[in-house]
Amino acid sequence: MKAWSEEFNVQDKVLKTIPLWVRFPNPPINCWSMKALSKIGSTLGNPVYADECTIGSIRISYARMLIEMDITKPLPRSVKLQDPKGRLILQEVTYDWEPKYCTKCLKIGHDCAEIKTAQSQRMIQQRKVIKGKQVWLRTDRDGGNEKKVNEQQKITEPTQQSEPESKDKDAQKRMRGG
Ligand SMILES: [Zn+2]
Repeated sequence: MKAWSEEFNVQDKVLKTIPLWVRFPNPPINCWSMKALSKIGSTLGNPVYADECTIGSIRISYARMLIEMDITKPLPRSVKLQDPKGRLILQEVTYDWEPKYCTKCLKIGHDCAEIKTAQSQRMIQQRKVIKGKQVWLRTDRDGGNEKKVNEQQKITEPTQQSEPESKDKDAQKRMRGG
């Protein structure tokens, strides 16, 4: 039983680790050597491969590396490096592609938290629209009932709009007065 569970844990660990192409935009010049790059890469995961262009320093805008990373944790957006003068700098980290990982379902390919956020944002937008209507109705009530009726007609039957508003108001006045 014990041996089996250990084997299962190994499998589980493998599934959580995916090789990802990682870019380091505008790295300090002393970080271009293979040794320096693998050192940087090992802070993120297990470096597998460095881009040939990166090794040959043909590209100068960024260094690119394939790194096996644990995707169940949030991917780092920066790493701390030392520049040629030995000062600590924050190096930006970008990914060619990053997998979605759901911490709720423990599955690769989607993120329930992300879906939930998108839904709640939509709900906030809907609420804003409803709130706008409520504000509109409140100002209408101040202006009198006859205006409110007119506005509703505009929405349901746009052709009725051409009827002059003053005529309605006069009619209402007459009704109120008489
Ligand atoms: Zn999920």
